[in-house]
Order: sequence, then structure tokens, then C-alpha cells
Amino acid sequence: MVALVTGGGRGIGRAIALALADAGFGVSVLARSTDELEQTRVEIAERGGAAAAFACDVRDEEAVRAAVEQTESALGPIAALVNNAGTGRAVGPLWSVDPQDWWMDVETSLRGAFNACRSVVPGMLERGTGHIVNIASYVAVRPAPYQTGYAAGKAALVSLSESLAASLAPNGVRVFAFTPGYVDTEMTRGMRESAWLPDLGTGRVLTADEGARVVARIVSGELDALSGRLLHALDDPDELLRRVVEIERDDLYVPRLRRLSDS
Ligand code: NDP
Repeated sequence: MVALVTGGGRGIGRAIALALADAGFGVSVLARSTDELEQTRVEIAERGGAAAAFACDVRDEEAVRAAVEQTESALGPIAALVNNAGTGRAVGPLWSVDPQDWWMDVETSLRGAFNACRSVVPGMLERGTGHIVNIASYVAVRPAPYQTGYAAGKAALVSLSESLAASLAPNGVRVFAFTPGYVDTEMTRGMRESAWLPDLGTGRVLTADEGARVVARIVSGELDALSGRLLHALDDPDELLRRVVEIERDDLYVPRLRRLSDS
């Protein structure tokens, strides 16, 4: 079994790559920084796992396609795709942040996931099985002042996840959105340095490993009944499974428009 993890060079993506390697996956990691990718690759190899690393910008469709092909040549068909690459650079009022940073935040999450899905899903369809986990955030479903690009990209990613899950449901491919909770990483350190997000990181701080463990359970297939939903690192997978009828009945773990009732 092979997993592809974008943004696997550091932070949460690295923790996910290691957790999937520990779960028995051969793991391919993608990011732009070759030195960080190499560290992840070596750490997996030292634990006895199969690993590959390919430098690429996930916003570049051809580069992602080439990395997917190289991954499959090196390790085999991709059974699990984790779209984790993300940036949070445009912090501040929409009208004063750098537009290139704003679109980078949207595009790394959204175009990156789109590009990887375009390259990976056809093989999953042929094999009639596969898991995709899109790393989102709760900023996708609630106001995120001064993080409009980041939040818009994650909201779009949650929507993509649910719609793609519905498209692929008859074909055995499951798609999830997942949020790791607040984790102290290079991305959040950069956000905290701005004066615009004084409360960031003042609540519960999780480790990257906590989310990575849940992602490993998702790609194992245990949570397939919850495909299309937005899960959180603090959700207890066993409780979710025990209450799946209630989750489906009340349409929980999905963003929905609520309106005044007609009656
Ligand atoms: P980091 O900045 O530590 O790691 C981000 C990873 O993504 C790096 O490996 C980075 O490598 C890679 N990456 C960024 N842009 C690109 C690109 N264009 N192409 C390829 N790879 C790219 O951040 P986190 O670990 O904190 O974030 C990981 C994911 O988790 C993100 O999607 C983030 O939005 C999400 N998340 C994080 C939370 C947190 O509290 N930390 C909370 C909720 C969600 P490189 O720069 O070398 O390309």
C-alpha cells in the first residue's frame, strides 16, 4: 500500500507521513524544500519503511502529475492521498494584504488538492478503491477575521471534499476533510508574528501526532461510513462510529445553511 502526502517535509504533513509509514504504507512526500523532504524520507527509511520524496510545487499541475508518476514507479499504485500542503501568508485586512500571498493561500490548498486528485483519482477508480484526506481547518466553517484567503481556500477544500466524495461514492473511493486542530508549526508561528491574530494559539494546542493518528485510521478504511465529512483531530473515531446513524440523520460534520423554518 502506498500513500502520497503533500507538504510532507515538515509540520503536520511530516507527522502524517511518519504515521502512515508506521501503519505499513510506503510513503511518498512532496513539497518544495528538498532538504526537509529528504529528512522525512530518511526518517521513514530508518524506521524500516519504504519512502520516496519528490520536490514539486503542488500548484503546478504538470509537476504534480510527474511526481505522481514517479511515486507509482518507485513505490506502486497510490492507495491513499493526503492533501496537506498549505500556506497562511496573507494575514491582515483583505484590502491591504499582498494579493499574491492571498491567492497563494487559496491556491496551495485548493489548486494543490485539485491537481493531486486529477492525477491520482483515475488510478483509484480503475482499482475500485482509495482514500483521500484533505487537510482543512475549522476556519472553513466559521468567521476567520484577517485570514480571508486562508479561510476561503479551506472552505473551498471542504466543499471539494464533500462533492468529490459524493461523485466517487459508487466507485469505492472515499474522501474526507480533516482538521488537525491548532498545532504549533512554522505556518502558525508566522501567523502569530502578525499583530492581527492575538488570540491564535491561546486555546488548546495539539501535537501534529494527534491528528496524524486519526488520519492513519481514516486511510485504513475504518471510518468509511463518514466519507464526505469534516473530521477533527479531537473527534474520537470510536464514538463517531458508534453514533454514525445519528450523524447521518442529523447531517453532522458538514457545513450547512440553516434557515428559518417555513412553519
Ligand atoms: P507548515 O508550514 O509547517 O508545513 C506546510 C508544508 O506544506 C511544508 O512541507 C511546505 O513545504 C508545504 N507546502 C507549502 N506550500 C507548498 C506548495 N506550493 N507546494 C508544495 N508543498 C507546499 O504548516 P503546517 O504543518 O501547520 O500545515 C499543514 C497543513 O495543516 C496545512 O494545510 C494547514 O493549513 C493545515 N492546518 C494547520 C493547522 C495548524 O494549527 N498548524 C490548523 C489547521 C490546519 P515547502 O514550503 O517546502 O513547499
